Order: sequence, then structure tokens, then C-alpha cells
Amino acid sequence: PPGLYIVATPIGNLGDMTARAADTLRRVDYILAEDKRVSAKLLAHVGAKAPMTAYHDHSDERLRERILSDLGSKAVALVSDAGTPLISDPGYKLVRAARQAGHAIYTLPGPCAAIAALTLAGLPTDRFLFLGFLPAKAKARADAITEVASIRASLVLYETGPRLGDTLGALNATLGDREVAVVRELTKLHEECVNGTLSELASRYGELAPKGEIVIVVAPPSKPEGASSAQIDSALDEALSRLS
Ligand code: SAM
Repeated sequence: PPGLYIVATPIGNLGDMTARAADTLRRVDYILAEDKRVSAKLLAHVGAKAPMTAYHDHSDERLRERILSDLGSKAVALVSDAGTPLISDPGYKLVRAARQAGHAIYTLPGPCAAIAALTLAGLPTDRFLFLGFLPAKAKARADAITEVASIRASLVLYETGPRLGDTLGALNATLGDREVAVVRELTKLHEECVNGTLSELASRYGELAPKGEIVIVVAPPSKPEGASSAQIDSALDEALSRLS
């Protein structure tokens, strides 16, 4: 049926392409891709022959208008270079516009580096906050970290090898020496997960920038040493009830 198909693609291992995603790419009228050369390989792999158009959220408004006018009669897929569209990747503006115009939108879930990293890190997964890429400039980066310092959740960040050591150092400076996992090359031959504290891994990766793609998972702040007022209240209640 016509509409916008949000299609997740592998983050390294072509075997992670879902059957539904491959089938959809073979059926749609055209495919919006971040980088046509990157997606051409995947399309060849699944035998999809639909034409491709380059799309970014900063693509001009006229392209978006043209896509929107197609959605009533055509099936259009959106893919990014790797992983789930809209997650530190283009698509948000298009989905928002398609939603507002009342078009059908279908999601085809699949690989996402942030979620895959959480499953390997061995850090709490019950609450997590995805921060994407931190700002590159030191001041803006420190401000972004300060903003989330007291949040009781694991923090999930995307990073590149050359900046990893600096970023771990900046996290340590503001959050203190929490546990961290550096997860690299997910689903690829050299997949690895290195666990340690922020200071340990900041010095390790400060000396030698690792190759490949990286997700950082930082543990939540440890429980405060002192008791909270609610804990004190309930302890008092309990003690009083034993006296009576
Ligand atoms: N939309 C993608 C997703 O669903 O994961 C993320 C796109 S973002 C532009 C690219 C970043 O994702 C990389 O810099 C890296 O931090 C992370 N990433 C992507 N593939 C990865 C992999 N195989 N292993 C580790 N991190 C990966």
C-alpha cells in the first residue's frame, strides 16, 4: 500500500537485514537514502531495483513537498546508511510532515547500535537516556553532560574513535569515576565490549584512539550515601509502631 516505510538496515552484518525489510525494499516505488552509494550495496544484496533519491532533513523544502505529494499514491521507503532511520540519522522532519498530512507511515524495526550496545554492556538497562553525539566543542559538551549528571539512568552515547578519549575524560570530569562500557564494531568481525571506569578508559583511549564505530554506555550515579527523607520517615514510623 502507498505510504512512508521507515526501514532499519544492518549496522555491519548483512545477515541482520530482516525478511520484511528486504521484501519492502523490493516492493516500494522508490527509496530515500542518506548516501546513495552506501545504500546501493544493500539494495544489490537484497535484489531491490527501485530508484533512489538522496534525502537529508536539511534537504530543501521543495523535495520534502514532492515526497509528501507522492505518499498518497506511492510506496516510499526511507533508509539510512546503517541502522534505524531517525536515530542520530535523517527522517524526523519527513515523518513529522507525513504525520501532519495524514499519510500512512509504517515502521520496519531492526538493528540500532544504541540498543545493541545496551545488550552487551552489562550495565543497567531498566532506565537509559540516549544522548546521541555530544557537541564537539568542549564548553558545549561539558554543559550537555552537566545537564544529565543527576539523572538515575544509564547514559548511551555515539562517538568516533579520534574523540573517544576526550569524551571519556569530559564525562569523568563532570560525572565522577563511574563504570563505563566502550562497545565497538557491533555485529562485525572485531566486535568488542571493554568495561572499566571512566578514568581508566579515558587514559587508555587517550593514548591510542581506537578504530571503528563506537557506542559508550555510562552507568547511572551510585545510590547516595545518606538516607533520603522518605527513608528516614519510614524508619521512624516503623520504630514508633514497635514501641506502641
Ligand atoms: N541510526 C544508526 C543506529 O540506528 O544505530 C546510528 C547512526 S549514527 C550517524 C552512526 C553512529 O552509530 C556511529 O558513529 C556509532 O557511534 C554508532 N554505530 C553505528 N554502527 C555501529 C556499530 N556497528 N558498532 C558500534 N557503533 C555503531
